Amino acid sequence: MQAVKSAYIHIPFCVKICTYCDFNKYFIQHQPVDDYLTCLIKEMSWAKEKNLTTMFVGGGTPTALSEAQLERLLSAIQAKFNISEEYTFEANPDELTEEKVALLKKYGVNRLSLGVQTFDEDLLKLLGRSHQRADIYSAVRNARKYGIPSISLDLMYQLPGQTMDQFEESLNEALSLEVDHISSYGLILEKQTQFYNLYQKGKLSEPNEDLGAEMYHFMIDKLAQHDLQQYEISNFAKEGHASEHNKVYWKNESYYGFGAGASGYVNGVRYSNINPVNHYIDEVKKGNAPIRTEEKVSLKEQIEEEMFLGLRMNQGVSKARFKEKFGHDINEYYHKELQTLEAKNLIDNTPTHVMLTEEGRVIGNYVFETFIG
Ligand code: SF4
Repeated sequence: MQAVKSAYIHIPFCVKICTYCDFNKYFIQHQPVDDYLTCLIKEMSWAKEKNLTTMFVGGGTPTALSEAQLERLLSAIQAKFNISEEYTFEANPDELTEEKVALLKKYGVNRLSLGVQTFDEDLLKLLGRSHQRADIYSAVRNARKYGIPSISLDLMYQLPGQTMDQFEESLNEALSLEVDHISSYGLILEKQTQFYNLYQKGKLSEPNEDLGAEMYHFMIDKLAQHDLQQYEISNFAKEGHASEHNKVYWKNESYYGFGAGASGYVNGVRYSNINPVNHYIDEVKKGNAPIRTEEKVSLKEQIEEEMFLGLRMNQGVSKARFKEKFGHDINEYYHKELQTLEAKNLIDNTPTHVMLTEEGRVIGNYVFETFIG
């Protein structure tokens, strides 16, 4: 049984709802935020493990909480868990005031993930973001002032009407801030978003995938020139700043998920919590685990997950780890698949690892499917 060394906490509230967002989130006004925190803290108290390596508090937007609510959450986390390595909070640039950064620092948060998306004012408006370009600069300034040692920005590309020049300008501005890490995702039109409705009504053009692919390759080269090396399909870091928490997901390790809509993986069981805040609160108040779905992952599924999650990382899947976890030699278990993919130059099969090639990374989904039987 793998010990749980990581946890994710979900704060499902936002001060403004973005036009492209399909996460489990609710407009914060009139939400029972204090009740939610009470239940979240109760749910955390049921966890067996106290000593964690990584913690990630995301959303929604954790910084949508008031200072008093934020301190209540931070002190409950501190009372319950020892976090030895990486403690990340997601933040929206306009909400990261000096007072909130000071609180985060006081309680040991050592990594911030800022939802920037773009520096272009018109695109920020189109995305329905609550912040403006200047907020990004002051958020990073505040984080530096209070000595947060690792700062990551989320950037989006392939946005409606976004030109290559606009994207390059956003990359240049991000680089000028000398951040330690960048996560970057191409826009996907998800159902049940305002963007999707506009698209259905013919008021928004479909994302341009060819231009998106160009932007992606441009970004990989540009960031590498500034010491932000790609270490996963969508993630880039300076040395020592790769996200240890995200590696837990890609290495298919165990983690707790706390809060409405959070997912976890404990004792070989994947589970997701109830999404609606009120329903979540009702269950926890009754003393019940607020679980919506749970599924025991079979050995075959664990092996498949090991491949398609592990291959997302540039270092790929470790052969020694595969053998240790599953008792199989990867070259024998996936003999045919590895031979076929190697012949197509989609993977490198080294003595220690199996990893995607440059070409394989472009059609990662095709490669991943090969390992799913
Ligand atoms: S801030 Fe994040 S979670 Fe909230 S609506 Fe925007 S994208 Fe979604």
